[in-house]
Amino acid sequence: KQSNIHLEEEIIERIKAENEANKALSKERELNEMKSRFVSMASHEFRTPLSTILSSAALIARYTTSETQENRDKHINRIKANVSELTSILNEFLSLEKIDAGKMHVEKVRVEIGALVTELVSELSTITKEDQHILFTIPSDSCYLVTDPQILRQVLTNLLSNAIKYSDQGSEIHLLVQSDDYGLVFQIKDQGMGIPENDQKYLFGKFFRAHNSHHIQGTGLGLNIVQKYLELLDGKISFESVEGKGSTFTVKFNN
Ligand code: ADP
Repeated sequence: KQSNIHLEEEIIERIKAENEANKALSKERELNEMKSRFVSMASHEFRTPLSTILSSAALIARYTTSETQENRDKHINRIKANVSELTSILNEFLSLEKIDAGKMHVEKVRVEIGALVTELVSELSTITKEDQHILFTIPSDSCYLVTDPQILRQVLTNLLSNAIKYSDQGSEIHLLVQSDDYGLVFQIKDQGMGIPENDQKYLFGKFFRAHNSHHIQGTGLGLNIVQKYLELLDGKISFESVEGKGSTFTVKFNN
């Protein structure tokens, strides 16, 4: 009997060790898959911006002193826009790698939300389309949240820039902040293309892009990052969307 118990223990230990090894293996597989998807995505996504940068730079190099300022500005702005696009793709990858490796540093402090939102909206108003406006409503009294301000800013920036990107010029984007005894709620509402019903359940998956959005540049990483950031901040996200009408994303923090 004694030796049976010994045998059982040994088997259990062996199964445990196997499980650990399998876990490590599947983590490694996931990392490898992520790397190869990065390479294939990067080679697609980087090609257009890089060739635009190259051709604009070549044109500027050929300009003589008689070239109009307007033409110079056009190409310089094109270079800037494309460099910033490449930078944001790279930043998304770096953020995701950092979160997935558990290396994200979270530092919660007491944040005044009105000031954060006002500043953010003014920053994002520089990337809106023609006649597209971000309107925001914040509680009349100052309201505070104990959170990591950098991460919260990144969450709201990702949601607002999606609202801008996936809706047309001339449309309105609303950011509503409400505070009550239970906590704080942010709502980002757009009048854009919406998300097809069949795609909605996959929306927060890594690299997922809805079928109606492929003509617009994107990586499918922003919402995956948002979801993981919100886990770090103890926040919850949900959304409602109607294809062709618009989407509303809701982020909640409980007191
Ligand atoms: P990206 O915008 O880089 O593709 P995201 O992870 O932020 O990546 O979004 C994933 C997909 O969800 C997008 O490709 C798009 O299809 C859809 N999506 C996200 N936000 C919106 C929105 N506000 N309106 C319509 N579609 C959206």
